[in-house]
Parts: sequence; structure tokens; C-alpha cells
Amino acid sequence: PAIMKYAEIEWNKGVPRSTRFGDVYFSADGGIEETRYVFLHQNALPQRWQQANRFVIAETGFGTGLNFLVTLQGWLQAAPAGARLHYISIEKYPVAPDDIERVAGQWPALRPCVDELLQYYPPPVPGMHLLELAAGRVRLHLVFDDVESALEQIGCKADAWYLDGFAPARNPGMWHQRVFELIGRNTSIGGSFATYTAAGEVRRGLARAGFVVRKQPGYGSKRDMLNGFMFERHCYSVERPWFTLPVNDVEPGQAVVVGAGLAGLTAARALIERGWAVTLIDRHASVAAEASGNPAGLLMPRLARAATPDMRFYLNAFLYAIRCLERLQADAPRRFWFNCGNLLVDDEARLKQIAAANDFTDSPVRYIDVDEIPEIAGVDLGRGALLLAGAGWVDVRRLCTELQRACGDRLDYLQASVVDLQRVEGGWRLCADNGEVVASSTCVVLANGSQAKQLPGLDWLPLQAARGQLTYAEHTDISRGIRCGISAGRYITPAHEGRHIIGASYQLLDAAGMRGAFDDAASITGEAPAAMGLSAVDQRENIGGINRVIPECIAPSATLDGRAACRAVSNDRVPIIGCVPDRAGFERQYHDLCHGRPSRMYPPGEYLPGLYLSTGHGSRGLCSCFIAAEMIASMVCNEPAPVEKCMLDYVNPARFLIRRLKRGYR
Ligand code: SAM
Repeated sequence: PAIMKYAEIEWNKGVPRSTRFGDVYFSADGGIEETRYVFLHQNALPQRWQQANRFVIAETGFGTGLNFLVTLQGWLQAAPAGARLHYISIEKYPVAPDDIERVAGQWPALRPCVDELLQYYPPPVPGMHLLELAAGRVRLHLVFDDVESALEQIGCKADAWYLDGFAPARNPGMWHQRVFELIGRNTSIGGSFATYTAAGEVRRGLARAGFVVRKQPGYGSKRDMLNGFMFERHCYSVERPWFTLPVNDVEPGQAVVVGAGLAGLTAARALIERGWAVTLIDRHASVAAEASGNPAGLLMPRLARAATPDMRFYLNAFLYAIRCLERLQADAPRRFWFNCGNLLVDDEARLKQIAAANDFTDSPVRYIDVDEIPEIAGVDLGRGALLLAGAGWVDVRRLCTELQRACGDRLDYLQASVVDLQRVEGGWRLCADNGEVVASSTCVVLANGSQAKQLPGLDWLPLQAARGQLTYAEHTDISRGIRCGISAGRYITPAHEGRHIIGASYQLLDAAGMRGAFDDAASITGEAPAAMGLSAVDQRENIGGINRVIPECIAPSATLDGRAACRAVSNDRVPIIGCVPDRAGFERQYHDLCHGRPSRMYPPGEYLPGLYLSTGHGSRGLCSCFIAAEMIASMVCNEPAPVEKCMLDYVNPARFLIRRLKRGYR
């Protein structure tokens, strides 16, 4: 669904009831004791946790989160301190935060867990939301979607299932054969399920899906319930086998990350949090020397007029980035995150359509009428605009320094220009321009922007550098009033220490031969990009761009003040994140894709073991880098992904090879 609303709930003597389904979220007499018995005890938790260093629970029906909260509490008591719980929960009708709050009122022991959950609980935006709780010991993947499509997208093997979707008779949509099959597929060998229902259909359905199903005594006055486990591996055909990622089983060791910008630092940190040590290699002497060294960037998702995969990716990435920034800022000595909200100015009809596609309670996106604008923006824009209230601007350079600090002494910085990448027994060897081996590792993340394609075997990556120039401008009587980030082709930050930052020009470099691939190649000004020197034309255009929206806002200046750097853009403008495909393997296996054979007939894709990419973040790296880092770390460590499978596919580097093969050339 494109639009979600909070569930309508009636409370009756402390028990929440769904008006839509006419059934209760949990029972009046049972409450948390029933949850413990049915879901924990009958899945043999917490016994199974004692030896685990990772455990995956999946649930159909997050509801008020009671099962989750009880599980979280149990995990913190029973599991080893370094172990991580992944809790994936599916919910089509998210419960409002106030109703979750009421649950806590009844069980004061749950209070701390509820407070933490509510601090990060996302608005009802469709898709997967990753919440890191209990200092990273518990990761909640909340999937706001219908059960069936969510199960198609979670792409991980659960060790235990909680099947909790209202009574089957009242909600058959949650208990049919396709659902059971998908649950079976997404279960590890030795994985289990438990459910309070003992309905014959459920019992037979789960058995058909591969579970050994047993009837167990129900809780309290209830006669029966079901549990069961999976003990064999089944084979399934998949729709787009080329995007089937290899399953890793590597112990944390020493990883190498190439590129010390935001993409590299977030990736390094995600690996360090998982027990890796990281060598961060960059050609510059210190972190954030290129585009990530900018003193300001707006955190803005790319929005669309309909629920496109692109908007889904960016909205979820955006919400995740906000959670990361808040957490990092809370521990940081200096301020880098200014959550003042941002306004997007564009064609009003278009903005209204975007707002309509996101019109729900607590939506992160809202259309603001022209007369309300001065109040919010602090200046008159003479028209309506789209408000992203949770957004803001970031001092990116400081953020990078902070990330480096947060990595601690498990991060080792190495200045070198990596020009060669050789596959060797057990991993990769990275060599510098003088031929010297600078590092070797089983796990290498390339986060070096458009230079990734200079490495041998990666020349097929359709990456380009786009030069961008920021302008630093003194505030004026008009501009002083600006209260939030304003994006209108060019963007401007509120004045900070008397100065605004205006960004950014956009000029594709090394365009020779690639011009045709870029529709907006017209933005190439013809002016020679004097290294990263500043251009007077760009400065004029930056200031002019703002003054067109806010007349006489910024005074033109004869002196050049600003910063220029290059961002990496891909030819479809979507970031490039994930495992690196083996080009030769793809061309061998899929050479006849252009003939239109059903995709299911093909074998899974061949990927280069231990090699990952995080690049092509374009002008929106602040939005996409945090989630990209988690995506890669989850692949490296064989954990449930922080985004849905379709989102992994959307940014998968192999998409470029597949597109070419489908068109019939290599
Ligand atoms: N586990 C929850 C708790 O601890 O509060 C109780 C879950 S409640 C019994 C069932 C949940 O399933 C409801 O929150 C409901 O909105 C959700 N649900 C119902 N139909 C669904 C569907 N087709 N897809 C996803 N979720 C659904």
C-alpha cells in the first residue's frame, strides 16, 4: 500500500481490540505470561539463546509490540552480552505510538524497553525500518507491509517464528497456504515456530510447508496450540536468480575499506560494530578530503509523485539516516546535525502530488500553503512548498571526523593510492601505484566514488564524477530570517555563525563518450574545470538560484568563497551498493537473456567473494550512506538485511550487467 494509517483500537479493561478485525491484540487474562508461554517457551527460548551469538526471530503481526518487548527483555537477561538478536516483524496496520505507550502503563517492568522503542518508532511509511536498540544488542526490522509481500521481501532465515495474526477465522489473509510456504522458505534448518492457534488448516498448511508440526497444551484455559520445527533444506526457484547473493560464513577479521568519505566511514563503522578491525585506505592524508569534506549538505530524500521503488528506497534510507545522526550526535562533542527541517520548492502541482502520495498521520512529508510559509521558513517564498520536518542539514566534514572517532582504535588509517586489486587465495590483495602491496584481506569494501571503475575488472561500472561547487555567503537582513534548509534546485542552509552555505552546482566530468548516457548532460557548462578551483560562473549561478526563489536574499560577491569537490554518480542515478558481480561469470551464464527465456531457468549469479561496493551516492550520500553501510555489513556477516530484497536488487551493482545482457550486448 502506498498510504498507511494507524490502526483503530478500542481499549477495554486494559485490552486493546482492533475495530477492523474485531479481535484482541493480546488476551485479557494472559498478557505477558501468555506471550512467554506461547512464543518463547514453545520455541524453546531462552534455552536456545544461551549459546547463540546471533539469533533471528520473525513475527507475523507486530501489533502493540508486546511480544517484541517481552522478547527483548528476555534476550537481555539470557543471551551472551556480545550476541545480537534480529527481530523481524511484519505489520500492515501499524499501531499508533500512544497505544504502544498504553501497553507499558500496564507492565511497569517493560517501561524502559517501551521508551526506547518509542524513541525510534517510525511513522507509518511502507517498507522496512531498522531500529537499533539496547546498545545494538537488539535489531528490530519492522516491515510495514502486507504479510505476503513482506514475506517475499525479507530474504533471511529465521531461527524462530511467532505466528500472531489474530484468529484465523477473523483474518484468513494472514493464514493461507502461500503465507505458510513463504514462512517455510524463510526458516533455517532447525528453526521453529509457535502459534496460539490450533486450527486444522494452520496445522496442515505448515506441515505442507515443511514443518514437523505438533499440538501442545494451550495457555491457561485454552486447550491446544501449535509448535514445530524444520529439519530439511528445500529447494525453491527464484524470480531473478542473478540477484541471489552468496551466503557468507566468515569470522570477523581485518577488513579493508577503500575511500575515507562518508560511504567508507559508515561502512567501516558498521563492520567495527560487528567485531571487525578495519584498515581504511585513502589517497589523501586524512578523512573527508573530497565531497564528504563539505561543511554543509542537506539531508533530503529523492521524492516522487507515486510510490516508486526509488522513493521507497530514499524515504526509508532518510528515516534511517535521521536515527543514525541523532544517535551519533548524542555522543559527539561538537554539533554537526542541525535538524531544522527542510523545504523543497518546485512546481507546486508536482509537490502536491508528492504530498498526496505520502498523506498519512506523522508523514515525514507535508505540503505547506503559501501563507504558512513565512512562519516555517522565516522568509517569504511567494508560493507553497513541501516540508520535511525531521530533515535538516549536516556539517559533513565534522560528521566524518566524528565517525572516525566513533570507530576507535579498531580503525587503522592508511594513506595510499590503490590502483590494483588482485584476487588471491583466500581474498584480495590491494596494490599502490608503485606496485607495492598495501593491504590484503578476505573482505574489501570499495567506497572510493567514481574511482572504483578504475580498478581492474570494474571498468564496466557506469560511474561518473560530477563536480559540485558550494558557495559560502554572508547573511543579509533578509537571509538572516531563514529557519530551515531550503532546496530549490540550489539549496541554502540557515545562517550558522553568520554564514550561509549554498549548494551546489552540478557538472559532469570526463563526459567524453558517456555524454549520451546522461540526459542532463546539458549541465556541462563548457568551462574547463580548473582542478577543484572555484568558478565564478558557478558562484553566480548558486547565488542567482537562491535569489530567484527568495528575491535579494544573498548579495553577489566579487570574491570567490566556497568549496568544490566531486560526487560519484551512476548512469541511472541510483546508488551502487552490494556484492560485486563476476562479469565473466554473468556473461557466461546469462548470455542468452535477450532471448526472453523465463528467468527461473537460470542459475544464481556469480559474485566475487568478499568484494563489496558502496558508491554512486550522487548528491544524496547523506541519505543513502548509512543504510548502504548496514546493507554491506549484513552481507559480510550473513545477517538479515536492513532493507527488503527488492531494495537490495534495486541498488545491486549487477543490474548494469543484466541490463546490457537483456539488450543483447556484453
Ligand atoms: N504480536 C502483537 C503484539 O504483541 O501486540 C499482536 C499481533 S495482533 C494479534 C495481529 C496483528 O496482525 C495486528 O497488529 C494486525 O494489524 C496485523 N495484521 C493483520 N492482517 C495483516 C496482514 N494481512 N498483513 C500484515 N499484518 C496484518
